[in-house]
Amino acid sequence: DKVYRSGEIIRRSEAAVDIEDRGFQFADGIYEVVAIWNGSPFRLEEHLQRLMRSGRELDFNMPDIGWIKEECSDYLEEINCFSGDRDSYLYIQVSRGVSPRSHAYEDGLEPEIIMYARELEPKPEEYFSRGVRAILLPDERWSRCYIKSVALLPNVMAKKKAKKAGAYESILVRDGFITEGTSSNVFIVEAGEVITPPATNYILNGITRRAVLEIAEKLGFKCSRESVSRQRLLAADEVFLTGTTTEVMPVVEIDEFEIGEGSPGEITSRLQEEYWQLCR
Ligand code: PMP
Repeated sequence: DKVYRSGEIIRRSEAAVDIEDRGFQFADGIYEVVAIWNGSPFRLEEHLQRLMRSGRELDFNMPDIGWIKEECSDYLEEINCFSGDRDSYLYIQVSRGVSPRSHAYEDGLEPEIIMYARELEPKPEEYFSRGVRAILLPDERWSRCYIKSVALLPNVMAKKKAKKAGAYESILVRDGFITEGTSSNVFIVEAGEVITPPATNYILNGITRRAVLEIAEKLGFKCSRESVSRQRLLAADEVFLTGTTTEVMPVVEIDEFEIGEGSPGEITSRLQEEYWQLCR
């Protein structure tokens, strides 16, 4: 049960956060979740690049990416992650730092970095083979969703609503167009074409989203990054979600509307299979 905290690998029970940590008080922090398939981190570099961008956008005093990468490798080696044959994930969080509470931050604060790995809770196999339900909810988040901030209350509340409705995910709608899930990106398939909303400031550009687009393009499917209205989503032949822990997950029902035949579509299943090939 070893975790990493700003340069040290320590026991989890010793890893305390200061009560004036800005991540704790203001949600003034950013994070990444990296999948570790069979001991091998999936696209760590891309995750770290995204972390750096989140930090830059929020004027964090970010350390060098090379240094963070080394700290990650050292930590994963220390906990014997690389030899593991089980799937896990690495959580990395950076807070702006610690200082007396004040909305306007001081310049040049020393960021607090924590990371820990945990075994991935396996999802029921039928989620992937038979598909899941989703509900639609208004997107109540701010307009800088490309920043992977720990300020996740709108996502938390919307995910809980999905759970209460017996669904896997809430798909968020802004001005009549879908943005993304609370912790996933959304794709549709329309007449053989793979479509996902463009990576604007209103969505997080998922590492899995990018991998799936690469795969789909390589397989010769026509791919488009276009706005998808609520009506277009519900009328799609296939719908699926992507994400580090969601992988490629078919959606077969949205708000009581059946998608396609009510079972995972052919192209979704193909992309799911290819994605697993790439990861495992
Ligand atoms: N959108 C949101 C809001 C998310 O939280 C996540 C998961 N971190 C994603 C999309 C998917 O991103 P990724 O594929 O990088 O996990």
